[in-house]
Amino acid sequence: MKQTIHTVTLIPGDGIGPEVVEAARRVIDASGAKIEWEIMNAGASALEKEGSLLPDRLLASIKKNRVALKGPTTTPIGTGFRSVNVALRQTLDLYTCLRPCRSFKGIPTTRYDNVDVVIVRENTEDLYIGIEYAHDTPEAEKILAFVAGTGKKAPPHSGVGIKVISEAGTRRIVKFAFEYARANGRKKVSAVHKANIMKFTDGLFMEVAKKTAQEYPDIMFESRLIDETCAGLVQRPNTFDVLVLPNLYGDIVSDLCAGLVGGLGVAPGANLSDDLAVFEPTHGSAPKYTGQNKVNPIATILSGVLMLRYLKEKAAADKVEAAVAVVIAEGKSTTYDLKLDRNDPSTVGTKETADAIIQKMGK
Ligand code: NAD
Repeated sequence: MKQTIHTVTLIPGDGIGPEVVEAARRVIDASGAKIEWEIMNAGASALEKEGSLLPDRLLASIKKNRVALKGPTTTPIGTGFRSVNVALRQTLDLYTCLRPCRSFKGIPTTRYDNVDVVIVRENTEDLYIGIEYAHDTPEAEKILAFVAGTGKKAPPHSGVGIKVISEAGTRRIVKFAFEYARANGRKKVSAVHKANIMKFTDGLFMEVAKKTAQEYPDIMFESRLIDETCAGLVQRPNTFDVLVLPNLYGDIVSDLCAGLVGGLGVAPGANLSDDLAVFEPTHGSAPKYTGQNKVNPIATILSGVLMLRYLKEKAAADKVEAAVAVVIAEGKSTTYDLKLDRNDPSTVGTKETADAIIQKMGK
């Protein structure tokens, strides 16, 4: 049978992005899957080379190929952009941020060895929607005046941000969480919010989640408060399965769960719409480590595994994942973040971790 060749947009990004993306590209190329990479700039590097943080040709490439592997990007201050990532997710309506966090054997920096949770974060609404005004601007003053007119009080000269949660936006993310649970043999979906305080935003999220859950009687459902969920995750992470959350809580809980399984260096992710997929690690561009061949490429390599599964390249995905597990378990070719002692002499660099994974795949 003729092998499928996939064209994928490859976005090296900024800071440590190019190093971890190159490591992931090499591993994926060695996996047996056939990928043609279309390299595109985004973020600070795109601004420098093409005069735009999100060039049109980048957006056109993702829309054409439908799949991208992306390194983290930096948003330079004073460019009018709040965040390149938020803008990319909103422009392409990548409404789901999927972040599986599972334990690998042999990571000494984590307290648990049996975590397997999936974060489904709403990616386009909530406090990240970008309706925020600096203190003492005409916009902030107008909103404060409106609030005063309703008889409610807000301190004068406040900065103001607006939290927006819609019924349609909630329904599609909760449906995604249930469909994901069904397709991946998951047993429970927890909708996480603060509906006891934010009755009309998080309250709407909770109500819509409860209603949507009725369409999935085969999957257990629970509605939980964000604060006690954080305590529960830290104390008994193995009682959680799939979590669906509004944007801000999802962002924070993603890093919390990354911490439960060994840190940002091993936390992969995907940004999905109904027909587009941008795979990227949870971590940012860690500018202080740029060009040092120091950081962990595994989060980006595992994002590549998610991509291979999305492309239905199961054998290649299994091969990479198994090799990553062996390299982590052996602990001989891992980066500083997976060591108890940061001066551990067995520490290797980004490139050497990728080399070790490629070598294991060959066996
Ligand atoms: P960060 O994730 O870049 O780094 C925080 C710390 O986490 C680092 O100093 C490092 O100690 C550790 N770390 C991160 N990635 C690691 C890896 N692969 N291996 C080992 N250790 C790793 O977060 P930050 O410092 O808050 O943000 C830096 C920049 O990244 C900002 O400009 C931010 O906007 C951007 N950012 C981009 C994305 C994205 O593109 N998706 C996501 C988050 C932050």
